[in-house]
Amino acid sequence: MIDIKSMDLAELTAYVQSLGQPAFRAGQVFQWLHRGVRSFEEMSNLPKALREQLAAECRLVPPEVERKQVSALDGTVKYLWRLSDGNCIETVLMRYKHGNTVCISSQVGCRMGCAFCASTLAGRVRDLTAGEMVDQVLFTQLDSGAPISNIVLMGIGEPLDNWESVMRFLTLVNHPKGLNIGMRHISLSTCGLVEKIDKLADLRLQLTLSVSLHAPDDETRSRIMPVNRSVGVERLFASCRRYFDQTGRRISYEYAMIDGVNDHDWQADLLARHLKGTPGHVNLIPLNEVKESPLRPSRRVAEFQKRLERQGITVTVRRKLGGDIDASCGQLRRKQMLEDEKPH
Ligand code: SAH
Repeated sequence: MIDIKSMDLAELTAYVQSLGQPAFRAGQVFQWLHRGVRSFEEMSNLPKALREQLAAECRLVPPEVERKQVSALDGTVKYLWRLSDGNCIETVLMRYKHGNTVCISSQVGCRMGCAFCASTLAGRVRDLTAGEMVDQVLFTQLDSGAPISNIVLMGIGEPLDNWESVMRFLTLVNHPKGLNIGMRHISLSTCGLVEKIDKLADLRLQLTLSVSLHAPDDETRSRIMPVNRSVGVERLFASCRRYFDQTGRRISYEYAMIDGVNDHDWQADLLARHLKGTPGHVNLIPLNEVKESPLRPSRRVAEFQKRLERQGITVTVRRKLGGDIDASCGQLRRKQMLEDEKPH
């Protein structure tokens, strides 16, 4: 079956023309797809024969809501979607003053192995298609009624480990006939795949890049993030500087505060030294406890923040949204996986 949802407009045009249809039909189909229709039958301005032909050749299976949790505290909604092949992924809707933001997954599971993260515990199952990423935005918007203005690629998976589909996804959601979300309203978070960061820099998109740093020294970072073992912090910062030089976009460094691991004063000082040459800001994240991990949240967040600020670094502390609904990524899927495994 053809993955029509992942096609860009040029590919769709070639495809409808191959079916003997005029090019303008592609624009119609594209618009329907990116409005979130559940079947070709709904594409009411297409000839019936074309709708039938599309239905025979193409796959169009929207994700189903497997679980949905709404935070009583702040209206954050967490979706656990069941995909057409039975796998589950998570999407989170966050309501901010500046607009509704959807945090989407890029892979089923993850192979990066970060010690504090629930998404990677069972490894990576597969990459998501571009269409499956678009669907997370579309069906979150349709189900919640909240118009989405911002997207963050910060859910399950490492987006730069699924390069092609993620680039395709960016093209699709950015398209005026699609969701039409500007690059400046999209953030991509990576654990630091440096070659891919370099490749991304060369594209000069106006995308916001978040780098999950979590430690400023190789010993600590390699301990909690295996990706660091072959690369190192120096090389990562070199890629970050290059990204800024190429795009003019400041990088946001994510730093989950872990008790006794990365919350020492000397680490704040080292972090500040690294950042002196690299415009960007630090986002301190209170660690979300993962049952399977011995790592605990730091009690020094405020002190660490002040120490960075005294050295001229811009620091924000992530406000905890959806704390009552397992909103941190990977946890809900994990719960469901354990339940799916149980004999019924
Ligand atoms: N693979 C990408 C995006 C997914 S993770 C990346 O590494 O950036 C999204 C963010 O949540 C990352 O910054 C990640 O390091 C962080 N994170 C993962 N588990 C966490 C936890 N238990 N507590 C706090 N932050 C966590």
